[in-house]
Amino acid sequence: MKTIRLRAGKERSLLKRHPWVFESSVHKGGGDSGETVRVESSEGEFLCWAAFSPASQIRLRAWSFDESERIDAAFFARRIERAIALRARLAIDSDAVRLVHGEADGLPGLVVDRYGDTLVAQFGAAGVERWKKPICAALLEQTGLTRLYERSDASVRTLEGLPESTGWLAGEGATELTIREHAWRLTLDVAEGHKTGYYLDQRDNRRRFAEVVRHYGAKRVLNCFCYTGGFSVAALAGGAQEVTSIDSSAPALARANAHVELNGFDAARHTALDADVNKALREFIREGRRFDAIVLDPPKYAPTSAHAERAARAYKDINRLGLQLLEPGGLLFTFSCSGGISPDLFHKIVAGAGLDAGVDGPILERVGAAPDHPQTICFPEGEYLKGLLLMRA
Ligand code: SAH
Repeated sequence: MKTIRLRAGKERSLLKRHPWVFESSVHKGGGDSGETVRVESSEGEFLCWAAFSPASQIRLRAWSFDESERIDAAFFARRIERAIALRARLAIDSDAVRLVHGEADGLPGLVVDRYGDTLVAQFGAAGVERWKKPICAALLEQTGLTRLYERSDASVRTLEGLPESTGWLAGEGATELTIREHAWRLTLDVAEGHKTGYYLDQRDNRRRFAEVVRHYGAKRVLNCFCYTGGFSVAALAGGAQEVTSIDSSAPALARANAHVELNGFDAARHTALDADVNKALREFIREGRRFDAIVLDPPKYAPTSAHAERAARAYKDINRLGLQLLEPGGLLFTFSCSGGISPDLFHKIVAGAGLDAGVDGPILERVGAAPDHPQTICFPEGEYLKGLLLMRA
């Protein structure tokens, strides 16, 4: 077993059970890509068992803080069992669920989503890459499923020095699937869609949006960064009369249109617009259009806090435009999925947008990711998705 010795004082975050050690904290020692190493303080005390990532700034990811625990196939089976058991206890109104959410489930770098009878896995770090076979075996055995598709094509793979890898790891057949979310049916393609195919983290917020649209009687709804139109279907289900969905991805918009019909709504109530949101919102303001409810769910502008300043400007811009387009009494459901933007900072950015737009109003709700994307006490980075529901006064 190889040993890694940390620099003096650099054991602090591991002692708080945070699972990452950065390159600059390592005093000496090394290993192969994904190899399990013993991590010690500068004094030689055991800190954790970890996976070594020779290419990444995040040089070590802790597997276990228990010296007596062995990191073997049974370890991965136990962690996966625990993750699946948690989901079984959560009230998830869908057959599409995130079964494993990386660090929050004690499996740094691993994401596993279940879409009906199909599992989709993303191996985003050298450690889980090295243990791919036993991880897949445990996933298949414990879910009783036979289809497992790999979507290891996220950019984090490059940081880990790992090549892209996609395709069936078990089973075969169509990558086009239909899932049920709440009372709705939605389709996705696990080979072609964003991430693993769909944004499961917004599940509860889509349901909430349907309720809010109904409660406040919002008739004209604008869904910005709509992807495949989940919030648009929610708006129609909530009784909206006219829904406009904007995205810059033509395949996503085609699917949004298809979802309107698949769920039995009149296609004439939905308009899909292939455009840049920022430009489209400015155009709408020039045209004097107004909406009763607007969703803003942009992509990750700030992956880390290093990008926070530029991202803050981008968030402020779209929120200012969104607020300007709201009818008095209208609702803005605005999100940031940037790990580098804290809930506090996001609140400040939106407040700044309100000032610039000359608009005030109550914050009705603060929301986060669905509970199958858990946040844990030891891993604050897990709190990436935050949203505010505002009403224009
Ligand atoms: N709300 C969606 C998820 C949104 S993901 C859901 O509930 O499923 C972010 C989306 O923004 C992606 O579909 C991406 O294609 C789109 N996008 C990114 N930049 C854009 C831009 N400048 N203008 C319009 N759409 C954009």
